[in-house]
Amino acid sequence: MIDATTRAQRLDALRAEMDRAGVDLTAVAPSDNLVYLLGFAPLGDERACMLLLTAAGSAVVMPSLNAEQAAAEAPELQMLRWADDEGPQAALAAAIVRVSGGSATRVAVDPEMRADHLLLLQAALPEARTVSAGAVIGPLREAKGAEELELLQRSSDAADAAVLAAFAALGPGVAETAVGDVVAQAFAAAGSTPEFGIIGGGPNGAFPHHHTGSRPLEAGDAVVIDVGGRLDGYVSDITRMAFIAEPTDRYLEIHSIVEAAVVAGLAASKPGATCAEVDAAARGVIEDAGYGEYFVHRTGHGLGLSVHEPPWIMRGNEVELRPGVVHSVEPGIYLPGEFGVRLEEIVHVTETGCERFSSLPREVHVTGTQSTTSVKPEESQLL
Ligand code: ZN
Ligand code: ZN
Repeated sequence: MIDATTRAQRLDALRAEMDRAGVDLTAVAPSDNLVYLLGFAPLGDERACMLLLTAAGSAVVMPSLNAEQAAAEAPELQMLRWADDEGPQAALAAAIVRVSGGSATRVAVDPEMRADHLLLLQAALPEARTVSAGAVIGPLREAKGAEELELLQRSSDAADAAVLAAFAALGPGVAETAVGDVVAQAFAAAGSTPEFGIIGGGPNGAFPHHHTGSRPLEAGDAVVIDVGGRLDGYVSDITRMAFIAEPTDRYLEIHSIVEAAVVAGLAASKPGATCAEVDAAARGVIEDAGYGEYFVHRTGHGLGLSVHEPPWIMRGNEVELRPGVVHSVEPGIYLPGEFGVRLEEIVHVTETGCERFSSLPREVHVTGTQSTTSVKPEESQLL
């Protein structure tokens, strides 16, 4: 997905973060971090595979069965191969000597590295202190370049189409899983791979991470539709609300509070604002309306190669937003036993504020027995 020049730039950017953090060596496992740095990642299984990076060099410990493909993807990589019958220890030791002379004392490790591979690394560097590499890799991935923003836009367009397909599939008697299937098909039709799909009808909508199940939707249900897919490596994530039959006044009141919270969160997202400030802006609206205790999660998360990645839009996070940072604003109110309302936008921070990727309105989509609809004609073309 990326060329050798971009790989070199990203590795150098990581070296600069390592220098700032006082890290001698960073070890990256097959993960979205590795995809970001190299443009690909071999299968992350029990065979030890890791990129080792220092100020002086880089090397990849590579199971020999994956080596040919990796060499084709990135011919400039220094690879230390190991075969199944010899084990990874010798290749790992040789890689450590090659990149650090064997002297690394403060080692940052990919948070997604398997525990058995971390133990292997710690055995190879018994004197080193290991810390999480999240603090050195996270900042690189937060701010997206122009090509990444373009990929995220295309991914978001596919998600908009999937939401419209879900709206069209809703109705009394339709199981949540049936709506989920339609969403998956819509992502596939748009060239995207479904990553997740939460369809939560009625009381199920009050579980923020409800597992889409067999419950049939019924008249009077508010329906949470939170879906995402992956297109050319980059993910999408969007939440919209629907209602089966005429929405109740209580529903509309809660929806309008969440909508105001989204608007406040979007208005707060700009260069120099902290993640905590964006959270406080959205949360304040819900607290002022008296529903603070029913907003049970952070306001948002970063998004890119991973559905959840830094920055975390939450209390206590003083990380400042900067142009190119992509994050969600997704406040919700969850009323146990009744229903939940969440509305989610993904935005990228611009020079002056932020811009959202989705072009769908956030008003509730009403599905009655007469199939009334709030989808505007130009948007239905996305189907
Ligand atoms: Zn979501
Ligand atoms: Zn999200």
